[in-house]
Amino acid sequence: MASGNAIRGSRVGAGPMGEAERGESAPRNRISFWCANKHETKPSFAAEAVIPDTWDCPRCGFPAGQDEHNPPAPSRNEPYKTHLAYVRERRTDADGEAILAEALAKLRGEI
Ligand SMILES: [Zn+2]
Repeated sequence: MASGNAIRGSRVGAGPMGEAERGESAPRNRISFWCANKHETKPSFAAEAVIPDTWDCPRCGFPAGQDEHNPPAPSRNEPYKTHLAYVRERRTDADGEAILAEALAKLRGEI
């Protein structure tokens, strides 16, 4: 998991009272969300939890909505990016070459 990923919503099911999470303790709502790739995901929410409009599809990372036939548009120009993609975006190729050369030189003990 990349450290820069924002976690959407609050995590349920991993409360401090783990043993109370089993069985029929708190009422839960399982809400289905669908992404543009027709993946269905069913996170469960505590009865009092606020259900978000969208949920990140765990399979492809697209936003998923509660309307199966009208899923949210796959991302406003920020699809899943690798760390390298971010680095490339921030730096010119020349910078990258220089950094790489320096790193290699360090590895070889030349610096
Ligand atoms: Zn998906």
